Amino acid sequence: MKRIFALLGIGVVLAVSGCSGSGNQGAGEGGKLDIYFLDMVGGASTLIVTPAGESVLIDTGSLEPKHRDADRIHQACKDAGLAKIDYLVTTHFDVDHYGGILELSKRIPIKRFIDNDTPAKDISKRQRFQQLNPLYEEATGGKTKLLSAGEDIPLKNVTKGKRGAVRIHCVASQKRVEGFDGDVDAAVEGFEMDRADTSNNAGSIALVLTYGKFKFFAGGDITLNVEHHLAHSVNRIGKVDLYQVTHHGLDRSNNPLLLAALSPTVCVAMNGPRKGVQPRTFGVLKGLPSVKAIYQIHYNTQYGDKGNTGGEFIANPKDNADQGQYIKASVYPEKDIFTVSIGPDGAPKTYQIQ
Ligand SMILES: [Zn+2]
Repeated sequence: MKRIFALLGIGVVLAVSGCSGSGNQGAGEGGKLDIYFLDMVGGASTLIVTPAGESVLIDTGSLEPKHRDADRIHQACKDAGLAKIDYLVTTHFDVDHYGGILELSKRIPIKRFIDNDTPAKDISKRQRFQQLNPLYEEATGGKTKLLSAGEDIPLKNVTKGKRGAVRIHCVASQKRVEGFDGDVDAAVEGFEMDRADTSNNAGSIALVLTYGKFKFFAGGDITLNVEHHLAHSVNRIGKVDLYQVTHHGLDRSNNPLLLAALSPTVCVAMNGPRKGVQPRTFGVLKGLPSVKAIYQIHYNTQYGDKGNTGGEFIANPKDNADQGQYIKASVYPEKDIFTVSIGPDGAPKTYQIQ
């Protein structure tokens, strides 16, 4: 972590703090786009608020314990000044990604539902899915839209000056990769492919957000073979400024080929104290010349220095793991910077948009 980017200067930091206000007034102000990485304790939920005030929530964490995750998402919506969620994207049907949906829908209106259309019958054999699928049905009223690779989330947007429009584009879904027509699990000459992943993970929705020159990749829990085809033989995403570390930082994902292709500046891992950020993935990210900082939602109790970034980049430290603190990124394309802070009041660190 010796390449951690120095703050650009007190002036910039103060200007940025001034824009972001106290948290409740932040949504959509002055061309700023916000991304909240929420603490789902090893699950995932990411809230995006565009400068036009539109909101996209990616995943809803888990149902248990005691609706913790729905409450945390709701609190982040309040911090962002939201009265509704415009789009909810369920990347795939795993318990740590769609468990909180019904409880959340009771706390804040959700206007539209997008998913990867995994047929419930395929996963209903397991008890936990039998419990969760009816909750999903109840929350969505059965009105969901499949998002396929190559499609955009239809944001209303505002296009002004240098910033341009915000675009959220799907590059993979249902084990299909945009621009690649073959079977992702088939042999590829010169590469050792992983065995076919028949779990829900491989079919996750993977999204690329662009705003001006800024680029953010959130790949859900896609696994090694899907990742391979996002990077080879064409780098289909290109370099990104911000990377939501895929699959909580597990080594079943985070293909080094894709990580090198993405060359992120800042990485954020949605890990739990005992889940995610495994040593191989952590080592590869740390070794990328582009990486200025790695953030983690939790201190990782499993791997010591081989799975932990510096203390100032961990939202929920070992000695205070239950506070539910989020990591927030704010993007200012007209200044060519984005900032990352911990919690609603954390001091922002500033990074250049590449
Ligand atoms: Zn997951």
